[in-house]
Amino acid sequence: MEIAIMGAGMSGLSCAITLEKNGMKPIIFEKRNRVGDRFVNGEATFSILNRPIKDELRYLKDSHHIYLKPTDRVEKLIFHSKNEKGNIEGALGYLNIRGRHDNSYECQLAKQVNSKINFNSTYEYEQLCKEFEYVILAPGDGDYAVKLGNYRCDLTCSIKGVTVEGEFCTNIPHVWFNYDIIPMGYAWLLPFSEKEANLVIAYPEFPNNIKLDINDIWNEFYSMACKDLKQDFKITDGFQIARYMMGICCKPKIENTYFVGNCFGAMSPGLGFGQFTSILTGIYSAYDLCNLGKYEELVKPLFRNYNNSLALRRFLENLNNHNLDFIIKNLDNKLLDKFIDKIINSTSKIDLLEIFTPMMKSWNSFKRNS
Ligand SMILES: Cc1cc2nc3c(=O)[nH]c(=O)nc-3n(C[C@H](O)[C@H](O)[C@H](O)COP(=O)(O)OP(=O)(O)OC[C@H]3O[C@@H](n4cnc5c(N)ncnc54)[C@H](O)[C@@H]3O)c2cc1C
Repeated sequence: MEIAIMGAGMSGLSCAITLEKNGMKPIIFEKRNRVGDRFVNGEATFSILNRPIKDELRYLKDSHHIYLKPTDRVEKLIFHSKNEKGNIEGALGYLNIRGRHDNSYECQLAKQVNSKINFNSTYEYEQLCKEFEYVILAPGDGDYAVKLGNYRCDLTCSIKGVTVEGEFCTNIPHVWFNYDIIPMGYAWLLPFSEKEANLVIAYPEFPNNIKLDINDIWNEFYSMACKDLKQDFKITDGFQIARYMMGICCKPKIENTYFVGNCFGAMSPGLGFGQFTSILTGIYSAYDLCNLGKYEELVKPLFRNYNNSLALRRFLENLNNHNLDFIIKNLDNKLLDKFIDKIINSTSKIDLLEIFTPMMKSWNSFKRNS
């Protein structure tokens, strides 16, 4: 069976690994000249968002023989709002590196692949379709799905980030919600060593936000972050992305084409996590090709998760700084602490996002109608 994979990233490589484990040899096409040829970026996965799976890395190892080594566990997550600070603690997830770094997740995946990766590929999708029996579309965005009329875009975002040098606890990321500075968006600091971290802002490009100058927002946020963390960070690298698309495909598979990773809609619109879902779509598409499952069935929970995450996005957009202060202040409430602790640290598979979705949807429609 002739299988082409377009894109040697999270989803494409996970697909290749799974195909190979089942005796198939895909041919991988990567438009860049190496795996992970992009800015170095600290990213994270949060187990609480991947229920019913309790520990995503153990699950990938035990169930799919995919091995990923994070930079650290997330043991505490600190939230900052305009006037408050709060945190949650527990086995929250993992921090990892992406991009041009030997330990980036994509480089770790590439080491587990035996099939040839054709770098500097100029192959278009249409050409691959003609030459191969099956095509796995894994280019890291929804552009091809849009062109094929198979994508619903729910929002686009502006993102600006830098790598900073400073002093960091490698197991403690920070998140900021302050709508005076980043309207309807948020910012995060994800350390990837004791000396380096990424500091990033992201906000939706709705009509009112389109007029905003991302550099002004960035400068204001940067000063605030330095003040909050009592450090004078040194910026060593930077990136900026406009119109980063968040949406989902209508059909995960059309004829001989599988839509995987961000081209499927792996990126959750709520908080922008997409790595774990990307890996899952890669694995599931390979399962379908190996007759171990049906792709359309396997991705059903991912569609549900996307829609729950979209409700979270709309919910966040309907809050104001006063609400955010209230929520973040109460994260340190003992009762809530116990509840969160139970969900995170017990063996429970409770899906918080699923539980809160009806409540968020009611709030969203109340806000729409008021
Ligand atoms: C700034 C930022 C921060 C993020 N933070 C997090 C986070 O903390 N946690 C999280 O879970 N997710 C995060 N994400 C999302 C996550 O990175 C993506 O969801 C995930 O990488 C998507 O995997 P993928 O396989 O679809 O694409 P990628 O892993 O991006 O791989 C796509 C590959 O396809 C190649 N390619 C593109 N076009 C072609 C072509 N025409 N032919 C051949 N090859 C092609 C690219 O060069 C690339 O190698 C973040 C995203 C961004 C932008």
